[in-house]
Amino acid sequence: MKFHYQCTTCGEQYHTDEVIYLCPKCEKHNDSEQPPRGVLKVLYDYQHIPHEFDELKKKEFLPLLPIKSLSSLPNLRIGKTPLYLVQRLDDHQLNFDLYIKDDSQNPTFSFKDRASAIVSAFAKEHDIHTIVAASTGNAGSSLAGIAAAQGQKAIIYVPASAPKAKLTQILMYGAELRTVDGNYDMAFDLSIQATREHGWYNRNTAFNPLTIEGKKTVAFELFDQLRSLPDRIFVPVGDGVIISGVYKGYEDLLKLGIIDRMPVIIAVQAQRSSNLISNLYHDAFEYTPSNTVADSISVDIPRNFYMARDFLLKYEGETASVSDDEILAASKLLARNTGIFAEPAAAAAFAGFLKYLDQGLITEGSKNVVLSTGSGLKDLEAVQSIL
Ligand SMILES: *Cc1c(COP(=O)(O)O)cnc(C)c1O
Ligand SMILES: [Zn+2]
Repeated sequence: MKFHYQCTTCGEQYHTDEVIYLCPKCEKHNDSEQPPRGVLKVLYDYQHIPHEFDELKKKEFLPLLPIKSLSSLPNLRIGKTPLYLVQRLDDHQLNFDLYIKDDSQNPTFSFKDRASAIVSAFAKEHDIHTIVAASTGNAGSSLAGIAAAQGQKAIIYVPASAPKAKLTQILMYGAELRTVDGNYDMAFDLSIQATREHGWYNRNTAFNPLTIEGKKTVAFELFDQLRSLPDRIFVPVGDGVIISGVYKGYEDLLKLGIIDRMPVIIAVQAQRSSNLISNLYHDAFEYTPSNTVADSISVDIPRNFYMARDFLLKYEGETASVSDDEILAASKLLARNTGIFAEPAAAAAFAGFLKYLDQGLITEGSKNVVLSTGSGLKDLEAVQSIL
């Protein structure tokens, strides 16, 4: 086995080639009003992995992926997204580097394809044909598209209120759409129930530990594209899987001695869906029901709360919360200055950057990266007021 799992709660290690989700020991104590404990982290035999970045790149990072062969991945271009340098915002010439990592350039137009591709490849290698997922919209449309490319069946639970484009994608890709008369958290519970009842492989974010491994590939690409560490990376946060993926990718490089420190990562949440930020320093998790225009980060109980919190505290990450007005203004500013039209959740990360800029926290000569995680065409309703 090239990899194994370690529980982020109790530390128990699991060496298995079979499907595994949460730590069986810790899962028993979970209740639905709290973030799940027992999310598993994938670890590799780092001693036997090349310690040269270019050697890893030549192998398309396979030694650091939880799959056996690159040929198990879909025949679509996953990740390998552009990193754009922005030199001017409106009339201001910038005296620092601002980079936008444009992950809307994935096959289904969101960052989620990175996770879906790895989960789907694992399924292929284990002769699994049906994959189920709960989603606010993007994870579902992503799994639907990736499964279509792989000849697999996808079953997607999603709130009926999800943006039309995302629901349409799911149907166009031929997946089975199961709309839920409720929120994402309800869809999540129903999909887990379906996995228990029917044995379908489950792609749910954080529940399936491979989602984090898929999302980490963005860190490898950023390292390749910049050839150094940025000072800051702004990441939009809902369930906390993307941000954990960014940390995990850099942590893998740290373990291999390719880098010697972590960049500062900033968790950006919508003010009206900021349950990760508001609980960062609390012992008892309490949530406020979320209600934001940024549907992809509208989450009551962040599914990867504990892992994301551990990363943020260990590596001295920072946080920013942004109002819906700031998100929509940031979306416009980004689009008119760069030609990148981002969905609200993605624009939230840029709004977080703008907040730092306003507060004088972006120093001259610094290198700043904003993850733009999804396309604006996925949610036209959110910006309808400009018509
Ligand atoms: C899912 C998603 C996010 C948030 O990722 P989490 O892993 O839930 O924190 C941000 N932006 C977009 C476009 C997404 O689809
Ligand atoms: Zn455990």
